Amino acid sequence: MAKQKRVTQCPECHAPVAHRRALTCGKCAAQLYYPKRSLVGWVFVWLFFAFNGYMLVRLYFTGLGLFRTYSTVASPTGAAGTAGAGFTVSTTAATVVSLFFEWFIGFFFIGILVLMTKPRVRL
Ligand SMILES: [Zn+2]
Repeated sequence: MAKQKRVTQCPECHAPVAHRRALTCGKCAAQLYYPKRSLVGWVFVWLFFAFNGYMLVRLYFTGLGLFRTYSTVASPTGAAGTAGAGFTVSTTAATVVSLFFEWFIGFFFIGILVLMTKPRVRL
């Protein structure tokens, strides 16, 4: 049986690994091979993490601004400029929406680059 010769055993759980190019064991998820990612690949990975961190910080401060604006509207002292405050709330909310949209676009494209530069195993 030529097909069975390709099957390797998992060093952790000794389960047969059917997929010749499998990076991890399908049964216990143990790492079978340690492929190397190219330098460009690593740049994309770091870019991905940096981007997410950057967007998280931006979202935090935008959310903080939104919270503060809502507090101003809710407080009795802010009652005088309700119309103006209401406008600010909607603009800040729109900023949050566009921020999420930006995040999604960036996440998607950098994510594709990360997946495209995924290390491959050559056996
Ligand atoms: Zn295993």
